[in-house]
Amino acid sequence: MTTRVALVTGGSRGIGAAIVGQLARDGYDVAFSYARNEKAALETVEQLKSTGRKIVPVQADGGSVAGNKHVIAETVKIFGRLDVLVCNAGIYPYGPIDEMSVEQIEQVLNLNVRSVMVETSEAVKHMTKGSRLIYIGSAFGARAPFPGVSLYAATKAALRGFAQGVARDLGPRGITANVVEPGPIDTDLNPATGESARLISSFTATGSYGTVQDIADMVSYLASPKAGYITGAALPVDGGLEA
Ligand code: NDP
Repeated sequence: MTTRVALVTGGSRGIGAAIVGQLARDGYDVAFSYARNEKAALETVEQLKSTGRKIVPVQADGGSVAGNKHVIAETVKIFGRLDVLVCNAGIYPYGPIDEMSVEQIEQVLNLNVRSVMVETSEAVKHMTKGSRLIYIGSAFGARAPFPGVSLYAATKAALRGFAQGVARDLGPRGITANVVEPGPIDTDLNPATGESARLISSFTATGSYGTVQDIADMVSYLASPKAGYITGAALPVDGGLEA
């Protein structure tokens, strides 16, 4: 049987690395991008040697159109196909909008939103029936519950509209597009320590942070043939976060 191929952006650390690991254990060959942290990327590859799958890191700046095109082209060059695209790379700017420079606004839009659009546009040229587009949004895509998150919330809300539209465009070709919306997940971006983490935990029904594996498990399901009738959806994995 042909081995299916997945690409995960921002796969060197955190949620992305967990998704790379789960898809490898599910039997995919996996390419993943990273920006700067080559050491973490090589560690991710090393840790997954026992899966027996081919796992290839690709250095690419997700904030540039050239980087977005490069990562898709490299994946197809290396593996000859692309079945699952997981757009995970993202940054979390924090602060009131009047304290953000135009350069900061552009940086966030380029990585959190434009990259998803360019990578999708390039990836679908290579995709066939049964392929999957999976975007890592945020619970803040549904609502901006705290001060200081307007820019981030706007970028994650954009993914909802994009996935719905793409689902319509590509449904007839048998390709699905969905957003996974994590709540607080313990990573470098949002460590589950200190007073602010305790406060954030108190807004969840479980009273806790989630793990990177919680998100990887949802991505694994959406990528599988079982999820063929789920498309255009925004799926929360957030411990019942209410805010
Ligand atoms: P981390 O900061 O732990 O990891 C970020 C990953 O993205 C790294 O692999 C990093 O690569 C890569 N990356 C960063 N900038 C770029 C860039 N310009 N180009 C390419 N890759 C880049 O983040 P998380 O794992 O926590 O977050 C992953 C996604 O999940 C993000 O989209 C985030 O918004 C979302 N999310 C996270 C939540 C959380 O609580 N953690 C909650 C809700 C959503 P490198 O190692 O080279 O720096």
